[in-house]
Amino acid sequence: MTLNIAGLTPGIEAASSLDAELSKLDLAGRLKLVASLGGRAVFTTSLGIEDQVITAAIGTHCPEIEVVTLETGMLFKETLDLIGETEARYGLEIQRFHPDDADVEAYIRQYGKHGFYESVEARHACCGVRKLKPLARALSGAFFWITGLRRGQSGNRASIPFAEFDAERGLIKINPLADWDIDQIRAHVKADAIPYNPMHDRGYPSIGCEPCTRAIRPGEPERAGRWWWENDEKRECGLHVPEASALPAATAGA
Ligand code: SF4
Repeated sequence: MTLNIAGLTPGIEAASSLDAELSKLDLAGRLKLVASLGGRAVFTTSLGIEDQVITAAIGTHCPEIEVVTLETGMLFKETLDLIGETEARYGLEIQRFHPDDADVEAYIRQYGKHGFYESVEARHACCGVRKLKPLARALSGAFFWITGLRRGQSGNRASIPFAEFDAERGLIKINPLADWDIDQIRAHVKADAIPYNPMHDRGYPSIGCEPCTRAIRPGEPERAGRWWWENDEKRECGLHVPEASALPAATAGA
């Protein structure tokens, strides 16, 4: 690997070079390579099944990679329970990032606690307060942002690379499971007895906040149960799409 990040700022060239190297490696090799490069590396986990695969690999091979989660205040009990179980199993700390109390209060005053059902704008505003602002704090000063994104999760994610430059956040985003499919994930979890959310066995392939997640029906895409009331095939919370395109002008950067 010829990439040397000493004195380098994240950019398209560095991401492209890293993408090519990562494509040749397995999951552990990908994480080890990123950890060896010296920049601060942060993995954001939602405790979903693919994220559990990455957490297990970090705990086993790369404890220097930071593991964080966005504790939105709206998570399922099963998700919260899994945080502690995972920490105990792998001997690592999953740092919780919470929304700012004043932001939540302001949101509730303007929209109501469950105002996100009423409009896309209100939903994006809630994700902005409960996810995007805590995410910005979690990634402050990071060189690498590691995620569990996979190409098979949705059409919107069908071409994600192993490494890409996130110009908005000024870092390199690493997707070490980009080429894994859900069957590989399940087989790996079973083989290594990796703890996972029992809701996955009850029709929830993608689990987010409780009021915004439902089980999917047979044949539906993996993420069909997220914000199911919105009529937009590309609906996302803004974590993995540029904020300017994900959020209405009034809430972008909130
Ligand atoms: S997923 Fe739902 S509850 Fe969670 S932050 Fe977004 S709108 Fe709010």
